[in-house]
Amino acid sequence: MTYDVLNPATEKVIRTIELAGEPEADAAIAKAARAFESWRDVNPADRGRLLRRFADAVDADLENLAALEVENAGHTIGNARWEAGNVRDVLTYYAAAPERLFGKQIPVAGGINVTFQEPLGVVGVIVPWNFPMPIAGWGFAPALAAGNTVVLKPAELTPLTAIRLGELALEAGLPPGVFEVVPGPGRTVGQRFVTHPDVRKIVFTGSTTVGKQIMAGCADQVKRLTLELGGKSANVVFADADLEKAAAQAPYGVFDNAGQDCCARSRILVERTVYDRFMELLEPAVKNFKVGDPSDPATEMGPLISKAQLEQVASYVEDPAFQGTAPSGPGFWFPPTVLAPPSDRAVREEIFGPVVAVIPFEDEADAVRIANDSEYGLSGSIWTRDVGRAIRVGRGVEAGNLSINSNSSVRYSTPFGGYKQSGLGRELGPDALNAFTETKNIFISTED
Ligand code: NAP
Ligand code: MG
Repeated sequence: MTYDVLNPATEKVIRTIELAGEPEADAAIAKAARAFESWRDVNPADRGRLLRRFADAVDADLENLAALEVENAGHTIGNARWEAGNVRDVLTYYAAAPERLFGKQIPVAGGINVTFQEPLGVVGVIVPWNFPMPIAGWGFAPALAAGNTVVLKPAELTPLTAIRLGELALEAGLPPGVFEVVPGPGRTVGQRFVTHPDVRKIVFTGSTTVGKQIMAGCADQVKRLTLELGGKSANVVFADADLEKAAAQAPYGVFDNAGQDCCARSRILVERTVYDRFMELLEPAVKNFKVGDPSDPATEMGPLISKAQLEQVASYVEDPAFQGTAPSGPGFWFPPTVLAPPSDRAVREEIFGPVVAVIPFEDEADAVRIANDSEYGLSGSIWTRDVGRAIRVGRGVEAGNLSINSNSSVRYSTPFGGYKQSGLGRELGPDALNAFTETKNIFISTED
């Protein structure tokens, strides 16, 4: 079976790839299971060194990886460079982990008690199309560092950077089978990762619907699972904020990657007393947002990923308050769009496109109530000059990643993940290795 990979900015075929089916998934899992037997015993310093070499190989190939993502996913060149750099940085960060995978010595009677963080075996990483490189790296880098081997399934729409990362791992000296990339459909290859008994953990990022199916599938073998799912994050702007800055930055908080970002601040909550002023400031920022050729360094937003995504996003837009611009002609283009007042559906559902709902609120309690009135809880922002309020609202909002007077939520050295239906578990940061290991407790008697 083959698949024609498209450029979403031109709708032209850029490459035709061979897709794996279930037999190829089984073969890759078997290879990874064999490789685990020796990879787990590679001494910690050598495992760290191999991961640093992998990071160096990614760095040396950064421009090529970035160009592939511009072509395959329509990401702006600036974003794509950041994304390839993020894979390098996450590998470097976790390259230090093998030598720091500490256990504990716990005081007990009659002997010595120690704990070990043991690898799980083969880890299956299932990646969506919105951030093909970073999301892959957040799974495979800590998994490999902890001594697991990895089978990785990219999204059908965006397999090219994952395939290249697989080649770079081999060039860097990782033994064959340690990191296997298996491009193929979710319902066959992804599903096989869930059902195959040798895959001991799934790391899934994608839609909440598929995430729930995977969670149910994992129950059968009590398979370990990390989920990063959707979001409907709130950008809360209080009257005492730096309104100019909040309004100027709000478009970047939601239209980056054409809104195809699980952290997108797709609801802007504005204190009613400054609502009109905020909208006056937001309008030029949205209208001036630069949408176009993603390979142009001045571009701020490219196309959507597919025709299906474009149709889905368009279905939410009726009578917008104002919109920016987008190219016409071929490509899956949609302009930055502001809904005020928004429909109930646009307020509740993850649109995953450049569409933002603006909603007024009365006071602090009302802001927290509206922010939490969602089945999701991934990220969000709070704009205020009042430190106490920032902390109170920050503690009150049910979301895993919040920023005060900023819209940036992702740093590889800090934990990332969601409350409620936005996910299960945390990725990145100093504790990610816990999600890729079992704690083993051993008691050693010192009695005569
Ligand atoms: P999706 O269906 O959840 O796909 C995510 C990944 O899971 C892809 O690699 C997909 O493979 C795979 N997959 C699909 N069905 C599977 C199954 N039954 N078992 C195992 N793996 C499976 O997401 P989508 O269809 O690409 O996007 C739909 C919507 O999900 C978006 O509009 C957006 O709202 C949301 N989404 C959220 C995020 C996020 O980061 N939170 C990311 C992507 C999408 P194939 O694509 O190759 O079939
Ligand atoms: Mg799908």
